[in-house]
Amino acid sequence: MLTSEIVARIMPATVLQYTQHYLVQHLLTDSRKILHPAGSIFFAIKGAFHNGHTYIPALYAKGIRQFILEDITYIPEVKSVGDLNTYFPEANFWQVDSSLRALQQVVAYHRSRFTLPVIGITGSNGKTIVKEWLAQLLSPDELVCKSPRSYNSQIGVPLSVWQLNENHTLGIFEAGISRPAEMEYLRPIIQPAYGIFTNIGSAHDEGFTSRQEKVAEKLKLFNEVKLLFYCRDHTDIHAAVLTQRLPAFTWSRHQPADLQIINLRVSGGQANITFRFAGQEQALLLPYADEASIENIIHCLAVLLWRQVPVEEIQQRLNKLSPVAMRLEMKEAINNCYLIDDTYNNDLAGLAIALNLLLHQPRQGKKTLILSDVLQSGLSEEILYSRVAEVVKAKQIDRLIGIGPTISRFREAFGPGSEFYPDTAEFLKAFKPENFRNETILVKGARVFQFEKIVAAFQRKVHGTVLEVNLDALVHNLNYYRAKLQPETKIMVMVKAFAYGSGSYEIANLLQFHRVDYLAVAYTDEGVHLRENGISLPIMVMNPSPDSFAKIQQYHLEPEIYSLEILAACLESLENQPLNIHLKLDTGMHRLGFTPDDLVTVIGWLKAAPQLHVISTFSHLAGADEALHNEFSQKQIEQFREMAAQLEAGLGYPVLKHILNSAGIVRFPEHQLNMVRLGIGLYGVESAGQEQEGLRTVGTLKTTISQVKEVPAGDTVGYSRRGVASAAKKIATIAIGYADGYDRRFGNGVGQVLVNGQPAPIIGNVCMDMCMVDVTGLKVNVGDTVEIFGEHVNIIRLAQSIGTIPYELLTNVSARVKRIFYAE
Ligand SMILES: *Cc1c(COP(=O)(O)O)cnc(C)c1O
Repeated sequence: MLTSEIVARIMPATVLQYTQHYLVQHLLTDSRKILHPAGSIFFAIKGAFHNGHTYIPALYAKGIRQFILEDITYIPEVKSVGDLNTYFPEANFWQVDSSLRALQQVVAYHRSRFTLPVIGITGSNGKTIVKEWLAQLLSPDELVCKSPRSYNSQIGVPLSVWQLNENHTLGIFEAGISRPAEMEYLRPIIQPAYGIFTNIGSAHDEGFTSRQEKVAEKLKLFNEVKLLFYCRDHTDIHAAVLTQRLPAFTWSRHQPADLQIINLRVSGGQANITFRFAGQEQALLLPYADEASIENIIHCLAVLLWRQVPVEEIQQRLNKLSPVAMRLEMKEAINNCYLIDDTYNNDLAGLAIALNLLLHQPRQGKKTLILSDVLQSGLSEEILYSRVAEVVKAKQIDRLIGIGPTISRFREAFGPGSEFYPDTAEFLKAFKPENFRNETILVKGARVFQFEKIVAAFQRKVHGTVLEVNLDALVHNLNYYRAKLQPETKIMVMVKAFAYGSGSYEIANLLQFHRVDYLAVAYTDEGVHLRENGISLPIMVMNPSPDSFAKIQQYHLEPEIYSLEILAACLESLENQPLNIHLKLDTGMHRLGFTPDDLVTVIGWLKAAPQLHVISTFSHLAGADEALHNEFSQKQIEQFREMAAQLEAGLGYPVLKHILNSAGIVRFPEHQLNMVRLGIGLYGVESAGQEQEGLRTVGTLKTTISQVKEVPAGDTVGYSRRGVASAAKKIATIAIGYADGYDRRFGNGVGQVLVNGQPAPIIGNVCMDMCMVDVTGLKVNVGDTVEIFGEHVNIIRLAQSIGTIPYELLTNVSARVKRIFYAE
């Protein structure tokens, strides 16, 4: 599109500087996601945590030449319009009231140039799955343009719809809202001719006073649709659709409807349904058996039946329906390689997202991309593969392995070091593990290529116990606490003890990406490990040993100085070299820290050693997690303020002051001072016990069943014969024991695990590498997944059941348990 065409859509836009004409092909909102500097226009959006304007100088340096912004004074160094020419002589700048609205207007215009039918999807759950499944089911008939992953926000929707081109025959886009009045901005961008309203959850999203209000707001997406598909058993939705007299296609499991499900029977992981449609009774076998999947499939079925796809044909397409692996996983692989597993789909937008992730891995070593043919782009093959090649080149991929007949045909477009295989089987035949070492490998393939086989070949063989870490949940929790902070309050995140058991540099890298201010670890080695894996944020070391100061200096770590002895050791080992330090004050915890009596001496020593620069001073609350200790906490805070003031006055320069941990942030938000130290809250446990519902679960510990057996009445199970079968029992042996961090105190019925979603108690003692659970009456098989804690088993209650705290359960998960990181 022409820039002038774009700018004409944004009302009103003021031209601040116009130097020359550039074409616009790519819309950019996130400074970390540049793929094609030439042809990009950057919308500087000011959000709650990031202000896009601050990245303009860096973007300019990378070749971006067009900017839509709100206020030039947010750009570092820029004071007046005249400065734009000084710092950015080749760029165009337009000023608008809201860069976000400008972005939306541009894409609404782009959308209006196409006449193809678009299906809009909203609802509380299932949007992404319905979108993906519907696209799969319609792919034999249509060339579908759809939202990448769950791009359904105020920014995600415009970026999705921007992909539309002349060749697409159908658009399927999802829209999600969390506040009133958001949908009216999304409707003109999607302009749906058809709608699917998946369902409505009972939780009130932030900002909605009632469920009715939420339904009404979501329905605004469909004001002008020709037909709205929904399940009329969701009574709130049905009532609102009737009131608004929207043209509807309903389905129901209990009442007459356009599509009426007469019978539904679940067995062996499948669901048999009988239904009545257009006066005829017919049957289908759905390849899933859980409630949510069944609902999602029936939404799709409604659309297919309405489109008059014959039932036999629908059955054939359903048989091929593959699970929507919504997650992109990251995991360790052979020969110190690290794998980003995105074997979920392979379209251009998804490729760009995954490549950005690859690029932001801080690890040293080669970056390798294993890529299948790109499907469903709507572009001619020549243009498509020249774009793919351009992206691969721009992202400085060291090694490309192309798999598939089409990408192989375009091998000339890629660099000389690239390898090509006609299919996955040929690649696996040629695969030699020793050819991959210390690489970060992105495996990205359309599902027909079955790249999961490649992933399996790369993965280290480990036993079936894994800790799955949900990176989106972690970011949600980070933002939950951030929302409580004053804009100027900094945030230090505690990543000690392998980030509370969740990982180490993977978590640190994500936090760096999300621009926290500081990290803290317990020991020097933990800090060194982060540095060696590319973490550049400032890192405080809380317990530096006297012999580790040389390393601290070498790796630019910042020690916590808590006693005169450790200060002496620091001065002695560093002589006159400069170092940033943090001073810990003891205000009642009585663990580490200077007491009030030490202060005069400390100040004296530090004045004599100006090479040591005090960055911050802090103290720790002993009882922030319990209201019982509020008065004591207040006293600690008061004493800290006094001691810190004395210190600052003595040093003669300002230092950051901080005292709140996770519970403290919730309980004493008025004492944020200059920084807070977030720990357990990031990992999903609200330790003040007041706002748990605001956080999401981050870690889920899972294992598998190794064997299932029938034990006759009177026999015993496990060591010391402690598990007694009072009656005939079915017992499953699971692959986790105390050496994995599953506490022995969970033995003999104290602990419960979840087998295929069903609770089962531990029987007998927990062994070192396994334990046994009572699965009498449950449907279980060898290989089934067992959840120990996480998404469905509450870690707080689990900890209470053995008289400990979630901190201990999290950090006890042993090193041999593989961590899998995923994003939704
Ligand atoms: C671990 C730690 C924290 C974080 O505590 P949480 O309860 O996990 O939030 C904060 N400050 C210090 C000094 C710590 O050791």
